[in-house]
Amino acid sequence: MIVSTDAIVLRSMKYRDTSKIVTLYSEKFGKISVIAKGARAAKNKFGASLEPMTHAAVVIYKKEHRDLHFLSKSEIVQPFFKTRIVPDKLAVGLALVELVHLVMHDEEENQIMFALLTDALHALEISKLNALNILFAFELKLVRQLGFAPHFESCSQCGTYVLEDAGVRFVHVILARGSVVCSKCIGGHDGAGIRLTNDVLHALVHFASAPMEAVAGLELTFQQQDEILALLQTYMQYHVAGARTLRSLSLLNVL
Ligand SMILES: [Zn+2]
Repeated sequence: MIVSTDAIVLRSMKYRDTSKIVTLYSEKFGKISVIAKGARAAKNKFGASLEPMTHAAVVIYKKEHRDLHFLSKSEIVQPFFKTRIVPDKLAVGLALVELVHLVMHDEEENQIMFALLTDALHALEISKLNALNILFAFELKLVRQLGFAPHFESCSQCGTYVLEDAGVRFVHVILARGSVVCSKCIGGHDGAGIRLTNDVLHALVHFASAPMEAVAGLELTFQQQDEILALLQTYMQYHVAGARTLRSLSLLNVL
C-alpha cells in the first residue's frame, strides 16, 4: 500500500553502505520506521529531509504486518534552520524528538500528539529566549495526552486553591497520585514528595495551559529551571513507560 503523510523525523541511523533507517512521527500512522535506500549516497533523492527534527512530506510503501517499511519519497516542509544554529534551541529541539521516540508506541495514530510536536518545534523556531520553557510545556501537555496530567491547583488534603493562597509558600508533589499537598498540611506527611515553591507551581500551571507560542515569554531563574527539570524528569519516569533522562539536554550549557 502506498501512503503519504506529513511527519517529523525523530531519528536517522546508518544502514548498510548507503542507506538509512529513519524513525518518523507521522500524522497518519504515529511512530513508524522506514528504510531510505541510497539516502547516504552522494547524490540521493531525499536530500536533507531526513535530518532529525525536520518536518517532511513523505510517501511510504507500507507493508502489512511489518515493523519496517520503505520510504519512496521525502520532501522538506519545514527544516527549522534557526533552531539548528542556536545551541540551546538545538538541544531542546533534539530533546523533543528524543522524548517522542522514547515514549510513543509504534504505529499508533495520534493526531493531537503530532500537532503538539509540530507546535513545539514551530514555537522553538521563532523563540528568542527561554527555549527550555518549550520543553517543559511540551512535557506537561504530553503527560495530559497520555492520561497522567498532574493536578497542581489545589491541595489534595484540605482542598485549598494553592495558587492564590498567600499562606501557602510551598507544596509537595505526591508522584503516585499526581497531586499536591500544601505547606499547611505537610506536617502529617513527613515531608513525602517533591517540594516546589509557589512560584514554580505557577510556572507549571502556566506551561500546562498556555498555547505553545506563549510559553517562552516567562522568565525563570536557573534554580527554578533546575527544579522543574528535576520534577518533570522524575514525574515522567514514574508514570510513562520508556521515559528516561534525555541525552540531548547534555548539550545545554546552562545545566
Ligand atoms: Zn492543604
